[in-house]
Amino acid sequence: MYQEKNKVKTVLSSFAMVVIELFLMAATTAVFVMGFNHLDTKLAKVSAQKSSGEISVVKDGGVAPAVQASASKAEGLGEKPSQSDDWKLTLVNFDNKMPDSFTHTIVHQFNVDIDSRIVTPYQQMHDAAAKDKIRLWISSGYRSDEKQEKLFTDEIQAFKKTGLSDDDAVSKAGKSVARPGYSEHNTGLAIDINGVLESFDGSDAFKWMQQHAQDYGFVLRYQKDKQEITKIKYEPWHFRYVGIENAKKMNEMHLCLEEYVDYLKKNRTASN
Ligand SMILES: [Zn+2]
Repeated sequence: MYQEKNKVKTVLSSFAMVVIELFLMAATTAVFVMGFNHLDTKLAKVSAQKSSGEISVVKDGGVAPAVQASASKAEGLGEKPSQSDDWKLTLVNFDNKMPDSFTHTIVHQFNVDIDSRIVTPYQQMHDAAAKDKIRLWISSGYRSDEKQEKLFTDEIQAFKKTGLSDDDAVSKAGKSVARPGYSEHNTGLAIDINGVLESFDGSDAFKWMQQHAQDYGFVLRYQKDKQEITKIKYEPWHFRYVGIENAKKMNEMHLCLEEYVDYLKKNRTASN
Protein backbone atom coordinates (compact mmCIF):
# COMPACT_ATOMS: atom_id res chain seq x y z
CA MET A 1 0.00 0.00 0.00
CA TYR A 2 2.76 2.36 0.95
CA GLN A 3 4.59 1.44 -2.21
CA GLU A 4 1.42 1.99 -4.19
CA LYS A 5 1.01 5.43 -2.68
CA ASN A 6 4.58 6.21 -3.44
CA LYS A 7 4.07 5.17 -7.02
CA VAL A 8 1.05 7.46 -7.29
CA LYS A 9 3.14 10.19 -5.79
CA THR A 10 5.86 9.62 -8.36
CA VAL A 11 3.36 9.60 -11.18
CA LEU A 12 1.78 12.76 -9.81
CA SER A 13 5.09 14.53 -9.44
CA SER A 14 6.23 13.58 -12.92
CA PHE A 15 2.86 14.79 -14.18
CA ALA A 16 3.47 18.04 -12.38
CA MET A 17 6.92 18.24 -13.96
CA VAL A 18 5.39 17.84 -17.42
CA VAL A 19 2.86 20.58 -16.66
CA ILE A 20 5.62 22.87 -15.44
CA GLU A 21 7.72 22.04 -18.47
CA LEU A 22 4.82 22.74 -20.81
CA PHE A 23 4.17 26.01 -19.04
CA LEU A 24 7.83 27.01 -19.36
CA MET A 25 7.81 26.09 -23.05
CA ALA A 26 4.68 28.19 -23.61
CA ALA A 27 6.22 31.06 -21.70
CA THR A 28 9.47 31.01 -23.67
CA THR A 29 7.50 30.73 -26.91
CA ALA A 30 5.43 33.73 -25.88
CA VAL A 31 8.58 35.67 -25.08
CA PHE A 32 10.04 34.64 -28.41
CA VAL A 33 6.90 35.62 -30.33
CA MET A 34 6.80 38.95 -28.53
CA GLY A 35 10.44 39.43 -29.37
CA PHE A 36 9.61 38.62 -32.96
CA ASN A 37 7.11 41.45 -33.13
CA HIS A 38 9.92 43.78 -32.29
CA LEU A 39 12.18 42.21 -34.86
CA ASP A 40 11.65 45.13 -37.24
CA THR A 41 13.07 47.46 -34.69
CA LYS A 42 15.89 45.12 -33.92
CA LEU A 43 16.68 44.62 -37.59
CA ALA A 44 16.72 48.35 -38.10
CA LYS A 45 18.98 48.76 -35.11
CA VAL A 46 21.44 46.23 -36.32
CA SER A 47 21.33 47.38 -39.92
CA ALA A 48 23.81 50.08 -39.04
CA GLN A 49 26.27 47.49 -37.84
CA LYS A 50 27.30 45.39 -40.75
CA SER A 51 27.27 41.64 -40.87
CA SER A 52 30.05 39.40 -39.79
CA GLY A 53 29.73 37.40 -42.98
CA GLU A 54 29.93 34.06 -41.28
CA ILE A 55 27.25 31.57 -42.12
CA SER A 56 24.67 33.06 -39.86
CA VAL A 57 21.85 31.48 -37.98
CA VAL A 58 18.80 31.92 -40.13
CA LYS A 59 15.48 31.32 -38.47
CA ASP A 60 13.69 30.54 -41.67
CA GLY A 61 15.32 27.48 -43.01
CA GLY A 62 18.44 28.96 -44.46
CA VAL A 63 20.78 26.72 -42.52
CA ALA A 64 21.61 23.11 -42.11
CA PRO A 65 19.32 21.22 -39.68
CA ALA A 66 22.07 20.88 -37.08
CA VAL A 67 22.62 24.62 -36.91
CA GLN A 68 18.89 25.20 -36.86
CA ALA A 69 18.44 22.87 -33.93
CA SER A 70 20.97 24.75 -31.85
CA ALA A 71 19.39 28.02 -32.96
CA SER A 72 15.95 27.09 -31.70
CA LYS A 73 17.53 25.86 -28.51
CA ALA A 74 19.12 29.27 -28.03
CA GLU A 75 15.79 30.95 -28.75
CA GLY A 76 14.11 28.63 -26.29
CA LEU A 77 16.49 29.85 -23.66
CA GLY A 78 15.22 33.33 -24.28
CA GLU A 79 18.32 34.67 -25.98
CA LYS A 80 17.85 37.71 -28.17
CA PRO A 81 17.61 37.11 -31.93
CA SER A 82 21.01 37.13 -33.53
CA GLN A 83 22.26 40.51 -34.67
CA SER A 84 23.68 38.80 -37.71
CA ASP A 85 20.22 39.04 -39.33
CA ASP A 86 21.04 42.43 -40.90
CA TRP A 87 22.90 40.96 -43.88
CA LYS A 88 19.54 39.96 -45.33
CA LEU A 89 18.56 43.60 -45.72
CA THR A 90 21.83 44.92 -47.09
CA LEU A 91 20.84 47.65 -49.50
CA VAL A 92 22.97 47.95 -52.60
CA ASN A 93 21.58 50.28 -55.26
CA PHE A 94 22.22 53.37 -57.35
CA ASP A 95 23.48 55.33 -54.36
CA ASN A 96 24.37 52.64 -51.88
CA LYS A 97 27.64 50.93 -52.66
CA MET A 98 28.38 47.49 -51.30
CA PRO A 99 29.32 48.21 -47.68
CA ASP A 100 33.03 47.53 -47.09
CA SER A 101 32.10 45.58 -44.01
CA PHE A 102 29.81 43.25 -45.94
CA THR A 103 31.52 39.92 -46.19
CA HIS A 104 30.28 36.68 -47.54
CA THR A 105 31.32 33.23 -48.54
CA ILE A 106 30.73 32.72 -52.22
CA VAL A 107 30.16 29.16 -53.28
CA HIS A 108 29.69 27.60 -56.67
CA GLN A 109 26.27 26.00 -56.72
CA PHE A 110 23.52 25.51 -59.30
CA ASN A 111 26.10 26.39 -62.00
CA VAL A 112 26.59 29.91 -60.65
CA ASP A 113 28.36 31.61 -57.77
CA ILE A 114 26.14 32.65 -54.88
CA ASP A 115 26.30 33.57 -51.21
CA SER A 116 26.50 30.35 -49.22
CA ARG A 117 23.64 31.54 -47.00
CA ILE A 118 21.10 31.32 -49.80
CA VAL A 119 22.02 27.85 -51.02
CA THR A 120 19.49 26.07 -48.80
CA PRO A 121 16.61 28.55 -49.32
CA TYR A 122 17.10 28.39 -53.07
CA GLN A 123 17.39 24.61 -53.08
CA GLN A 124 14.14 24.34 -51.11
CA MET A 125 12.38 26.76 -53.45
CA HIS A 126 13.71 24.96 -56.51
CA ASP A 127 12.54 21.59 -55.19
CA ALA A 128 9.09 22.87 -54.23
CA ALA A 129 8.72 24.35 -57.71
CA ALA A 130 9.82 21.08 -59.29
CA LYS A 131 7.06 19.32 -57.36
CA ASP A 132 4.63 21.72 -59.03
CA LYS A 133 6.23 20.88 -62.41
CA ILE A 134 7.96 24.25 -62.57
CA ARG A 135 11.57 24.36 -63.59
CA LEU A 136 13.67 27.07 -62.02
CA TRP A 137 17.29 27.75 -62.80
CA ILE A 138 19.65 30.55 -61.94
CA SER A 139 21.05 32.40 -64.90
CA SER A 140 23.11 34.82 -62.86
CA GLY A 141 24.12 35.00 -59.22
CA TYR A 142 27.13 36.66 -57.66
CA ARG A 143 29.17 39.01 -59.79
CA SER A 144 32.57 40.30 -58.82
CA ASP A 145 33.40 43.97 -59.25
CA GLU A 146 35.53 43.05 -62.25
CA LYS A 147 32.68 41.22 -63.92
CA GLN A 148 30.30 44.11 -63.23
CA GLU A 149 32.89 46.53 -64.61
CA LYS A 150 33.05 44.52 -67.81
CA LEU A 151 29.26 44.39 -68.13
CA PHE A 152 29.15 48.13 -67.64
CA THR A 153 31.83 48.96 -70.21
CA ASP A 154 30.33 46.49 -72.69
CA GLU A 155 26.99 48.24 -72.29
CA ILE A 156 28.62 51.63 -72.89
CA GLN A 157 30.27 50.29 -76.04
CA ALA A 158 26.96 48.89 -77.25
CA PHE A 159 25.28 52.28 -76.83
CA LYS A 160 28.17 54.06 -78.53
CA LYS A 161 27.72 51.79 -81.53
CA THR A 162 24.16 53.06 -81.88
CA GLY A 163 25.64 56.53 -82.41
CA LEU A 164 25.35 57.95 -78.89
CA SER A 165 27.98 60.34 -77.56
CA ASP A 166 30.31 59.11 -74.78
CA ASP A 167 28.37 60.96 -72.11
CA ASP A 168 25.00 59.76 -73.34
CA ALA A 169 26.25 56.19 -73.66
CA VAL A 170 27.56 56.25 -70.08
CA SER A 171 24.34 57.70 -68.72
CA LYS A 172 22.20 55.23 -70.65
CA ALA A 173 24.36 52.29 -69.64
CA GLY A 174 24.01 53.44 -66.05
CA LYS A 175 20.28 52.88 -66.32
CA SER A 176 20.43 49.32 -67.54
CA VAL A 177 23.62 48.03 -65.89
CA ALA A 178 24.72 48.98 -62.42
CA ARG A 179 28.17 50.40 -61.85
CA PRO A 180 30.69 48.07 -60.17
CA GLY A 181 29.96 47.89 -56.46
CA TYR A 182 26.45 49.24 -56.99
CA SER A 183 24.89 46.05 -58.27
CA GLU A 184 22.91 43.82 -56.01
CA HIS A 185 24.62 40.94 -57.76
CA ASN A 186 27.83 41.98 -56.00
CA THR A 187 26.28 40.78 -52.75
CA GLY A 188 25.65 37.22 -53.90
CA LEU A 189 22.12 37.51 -52.49
CA ALA A 190 20.49 38.30 -55.84
CA ILE A 191 19.59 35.75 -58.46
CA ASP A 192 18.28 36.03 -61.99
CA ILE A 193 15.78 33.29 -62.69
CA ASN A 194 15.43 31.43 -65.97
CA GLY A 195 17.44 33.85 -68.08
CA VAL A 196 17.08 37.59 -68.44
CA LEU A 197 13.85 37.77 -70.37
CA GLU A 198 11.02 40.27 -70.29
CA SER A 199 8.77 37.41 -71.40
CA PHE A 200 9.49 35.58 -68.15
CA ASP A 201 6.75 37.85 -66.84
CA GLY A 202 4.12 35.78 -68.66
CA SER A 203 5.49 32.35 -67.76
CA ASP A 204 4.12 29.79 -65.33
CA ALA A 205 7.47 29.92 -63.54
CA PHE A 206 6.96 33.64 -62.90
CA LYS A 207 3.43 33.04 -61.65
CA TRP A 208 4.79 30.37 -59.33
CA MET A 209 7.50 32.70 -58.07
CA GLN A 210 4.94 35.42 -57.41
CA GLN A 211 2.98 33.03 -55.24
CA HIS A 212 5.76 31.16 -53.48
CA ALA A 213 9.10 33.00 -53.57
CA GLN A 214 8.34 34.76 -50.29
CA ASP A 215 7.97 31.40 -48.53
CA TYR A 216 11.66 30.85 -49.18
CA GLY A 217 12.73 34.40 -48.39
CA PHE A 218 12.95 35.79 -51.93
CA VAL A 219 11.27 38.91 -53.32
CA LEU A 220 10.84 40.32 -56.79
CA ARG A 221 13.31 43.15 -56.45
CA TYR A 222 12.59 45.53 -59.32
CA GLN A 223 8.87 45.85 -59.67
CA LYS A 224 7.03 47.67 -62.42
CA ASP A 225 5.48 50.30 -60.19
CA LYS A 226 8.63 50.90 -58.12
CA GLN A 227 10.96 51.98 -60.91
CA GLU A 228 10.97 55.56 -59.67
CA ILE A 229 12.36 54.39 -56.35
CA THR A 230 14.64 51.55 -57.34
CA LYS A 231 15.92 53.46 -60.39
CA ILE A 232 16.05 50.11 -62.15
CA LYS A 233 13.68 49.15 -64.90
CA TYR A 234 11.20 46.36 -64.31
CA GLU A 235 13.07 43.05 -64.13
CA PRO A 236 10.69 40.10 -63.73
CA TRP A 237 13.66 37.71 -63.49
CA HIS A 238 15.61 39.36 -60.68
CA PHE A 239 14.93 38.07 -57.17
CA ARG A 240 16.62 39.00 -53.94
CA TYR A 241 16.94 37.01 -50.74
CA VAL A 242 15.75 38.97 -47.71
CA GLY A 243 14.59 36.18 -45.40
CA ILE A 244 11.09 34.80 -45.04
CA GLU A 245 9.65 37.22 -42.52
CA ASN A 246 10.97 40.27 -44.39
CA ALA A 247 9.79 38.89 -47.74
CA LYS A 248 6.28 38.31 -46.46
CA LYS A 249 6.08 41.70 -44.84
CA MET A 250 7.45 43.47 -47.92
CA ASN A 251 4.85 41.80 -50.14
CA GLU A 252 2.06 42.38 -47.70
CA MET A 253 2.89 46.08 -47.47
CA HIS A 254 3.91 46.24 -51.13
CA LEU A 255 7.25 47.83 -50.33
CA CYS A 256 10.45 47.53 -52.33
CA LEU A 257 13.68 47.08 -50.38
CA GLU A 258 14.47 50.81 -50.38
CA GLU A 259 11.06 51.56 -48.87
CA TYR A 260 11.20 48.67 -46.46
CA VAL A 261 14.61 49.60 -45.05
CA ASP A 262 13.31 53.15 -44.71
CA TYR A 263 10.16 51.91 -43.00
CA LEU A 264 12.21 49.93 -40.50
CA LYS A 265 14.37 52.94 -39.74
CA LYS A 266 11.32 55.13 -39.10
CA ASN A 267 9.78 52.43 -36.99
CA ARG A 268 12.89 52.37 -34.86
CA THR A 269 12.86 56.14 -34.46
CA ALA A 270 9.19 56.02 -33.50
CA SER A 271 9.77 53.35 -30.87
CA ASN A 272 12.75 55.14 -29.33
ZN1 LIG B 1 19.73 40.49 -61.80
